[in-house]
Amino acid sequence: MSDYDPASLPDLLPLYYRRLFPFSQYYRWLNYGGVTKSYFQNREFSFTLKDDVYVRYQSFSTQSELEKEIQKMNPYKIDIGAVYSHRPNQHNTVKSGSFQALEKELVFDIDMTDYDDVRSCCSAADICSKCWTLMTIAIRILDRALREDFGFRHLLWVYSGRRGVHCWVCDASARKLPVAARSAVCEYLSLVKGGEDTVKKVQLTDPIHPFIKESLAVVEHYFSRYALGEQDILGSKESAGRVLALLQDDILLNQCDLEQNQWKELLLYFQSESNAGKRWERLKALVNQKRSKRGSHAEKEIMLQYCYPRLDVNVSKGVNHLLKSPFSVHPKTGRISVPIDLRELDRFDPFDVPTISCICEELDRPLRPEEELQEPRDGEREVGEKRRIRDYKRTSLAKYIRAFDLFLDGMERSRKGELLRKSDLQNDF
Ligand SMILES: [Zn+2]
Repeated sequence: MSDYDPASLPDLLPLYYRRLFPFSQYYRWLNYGGVTKSYFQNREFSFTLKDDVYVRYQSFSTQSELEKEIQKMNPYKIDIGAVYSHRPNQHNTVKSGSFQALEKELVFDIDMTDYDDVRSCCSAADICSKCWTLMTIAIRILDRALREDFGFRHLLWVYSGRRGVHCWVCDASARKLPVAARSAVCEYLSLVKGGEDTVKKVQLTDPIHPFIKESLAVVEHYFSRYALGEQDILGSKESAGRVLALLQDDILLNQCDLEQNQWKELLLYFQSESNAGKRWERLKALVNQKRSKRGSHAEKEIMLQYCYPRLDVNVSKGVNHLLKSPFSVHPKTGRISVPIDLRELDRFDPFDVPTISCICEELDRPLRPEEELQEPRDGEREVGEKRRIRDYKRTSLAKYIRAFDLFLDGMERSRKGELLRKSDLQNDF
């Protein structure tokens, strides 16, 4: 497979939008069972075009209008915004103040750059399979909390195409949440607090909240392999120093000579012991020995500071905030922003996600005989649609579109179930 070259993007995008982009599923998603037509029509899309030209307030009446416009503009990137009171493309014609964002999915944006102080393998926009575990942990913790603690059912998790993940909570109740409620959900889910100047970013109080206990169980599952093994957080003098700095509150304050000795011993032990698990056990033993009367959760706080999800809360709070659309291309990496099938989360590898050059190349592969048979005849209705289905199935995009289909089927099932329940209720009267 050829490597992606950003310079080839203008040539590849027309092919992608003409033959591969899953417009019908995409429309099925944002139309939400077509309760009111305006729900799709009043939705804002924004496009990033060549040379970072940014066009906001795009909106479309139908799937076919959306298709035609995207195929004409060939956007480098597509963002999705809110459902407004009026059609976004007519916002200039509406009396000022009356054009308002009414609804949007509750969204979460987790970006690897927010973990730079706790990962040693890469920094900034770089990711590798080692630090990707942080995203796996984030998805496990948030997905559980949003389902079990908040009762949401329709969560679409999407790889951003570069260094993070997005979550779209699509339940009708989530889409209607006002700003204050979105902030409250974020507050509930935020544990790591403080900026660059804050050394200790996680402070637990007694008793530990059940949500934190559940989150800790997830972190504990990955901690030893990920943090002690792959990141080797107690492996070097510098990295061990950063961990020990988090214990200052608990141990260093009011220290006596004896403790000073123990501290030095611990550092010497770290240097002599090659087994990362044993180093962690020794640290825990010392913490437990020094446990203060008010109770200390020092080791749990370390684990959470190194592994707990870090949310970009501004993205989640605003109803009118835009977020990169699923199936949009990441212009820098060329990777498609694809839905993640949570049943295979531990095997999800961002480097396996196809680039636009990869799937366009797969299209050039000669048709197999059984594929020839499916070749749509001229004049057949919805030729474009059928052709697109056959086309994407021949590429490595197929399994990600299948994951999207499953998500959409789940939403439709629960919508039909809801309608059935309502009609049963009416029949009872
Ligand atoms: Zn890394």
